[in-house]
Amino acid sequence: MVSRFPTVVYGRRVARAAELAGQAGVTALIITPGPDLAYLIGSDAQTFERFSALVIPASGAPVLVTPRLEVASFAESAAGELGLDFAPWVDGEDPFTLALRTLRGDPVLAVSDSMSAGHLIPLMAATGTAPVLATAILRDLRMVKDDDEIEALRRAGAAIDRVHARVGEWLRPGRTEAAVAADIADALIAEGHTAAAFVIVGSGPNGADPHHEHSDRVIEQDDIVVIDIGGPVAPGYNSDCTRTYCFTEPPADVAAAYAALEEAQAVAVAAVRPGVTAESVDAAARDRLVAAGLGEKFIHRTGHGIGLSVHEEPYIVAGNELVLAPGMAFSVEPGVYFDGEWGARIEDIVIVTDDGCESVNRRSHGLTRLPQE
Ligand code: ZN
Ligand code: ZN
Ligand code: ZN
Repeated sequence: MVSRFPTVVYGRRVARAAELAGQAGVTALIITPGPDLAYLIGSDAQTFERFSALVIPASGAPVLVTPRLEVASFAESAAGELGLDFAPWVDGEDPFTLALRTLRGDPVLAVSDSMSAGHLIPLMAATGTAPVLATAILRDLRMVKDDDEIEALRRAGAAIDRVHARVGEWLRPGRTEAAVAADIADALIAEGHTAAAFVIVGSGPNGADPHHEHSDRVIEQDDIVVIDIGGPVAPGYNSDCTRTYCFTEPPADVAAAYAALEEAQAVAVAAVRPGVTAESVDAAARDRLVAAGLGEKFIHRTGHGIGLSVHEEPYIVAGNELVLAPGMAFSVEPGVYFDGEWGARIEDIVIVTDDGCESVNRRSHGLTRLPQE
């Protein structure tokens, strides 16, 4: 049994998606397995070579087109309890014609951005037109989390906080990054994640590479170590949290840069409230680091939305004039990176409230000094 929200939640989402499709002038949404389908019917189905899709017409009943051999697993999603129509097909039949069967005229289709080319190309051939991306339509829906989703993000935040609280059990000089990462991955599962989606252990110079994962480098006692970890917690909402660790008193220049980073992260979190733009939150963090002479060391955007995907809208980046609204969830994760030397990052997931934001991560933000033994 797939873990998911009450069925009524999905019924509301499917109805709302149809309404938004109509407003966008789209005949139907064609949603293949991926985060959009998980959002709409709570299905964790994967994409294979056989075509499965939830067809949501702007007007009329949604249909789940699926290979006959996958009917049973889709029946376990909310699609079953919602009583959605199933259109099963068997090998040798053309599922694309089946998907278009109930749509009139020259349909304008909107497809999920995770649809594979192996499905998109035959679908385009069957309609004779280029579809648009469903992301543009589902974005407003998925970006603003409802109460059930916010609760799920809180559970994910608490789970990753429990893992960070235990980092001292595994992280110490003399061990390799890979060995520490393996222990952390086990702890992600032990503390309630269904998968260890990513485990970044960046020690010493590796910490200066924001997307370094882990390596066979042996951790040294004077290293600064970036630990950025997360994964899905049932029913699929992700955690993502970074803290930075050390084992000895850091040199004055490191301590000063870290103090500026800590302030930048706090100032950015304090800037989050309804009515401000996404880019203003990025600017809040960036201005503080520029003032400390560290502007050149902050080499990425301040944050990304999170939910069923680890990276989704809204992106907290210069140029994004999107106005924040209650229910939006995203990371605030400025970092400083000194090429070939060291790096640090502080990351929390925040949810916009009526008058500010709530952080789902509660661990202290300081450079955490761990015992060496
Ligand atoms: Zn990232
Ligand atoms: Zn992260
Ligand atoms: Zn992140």
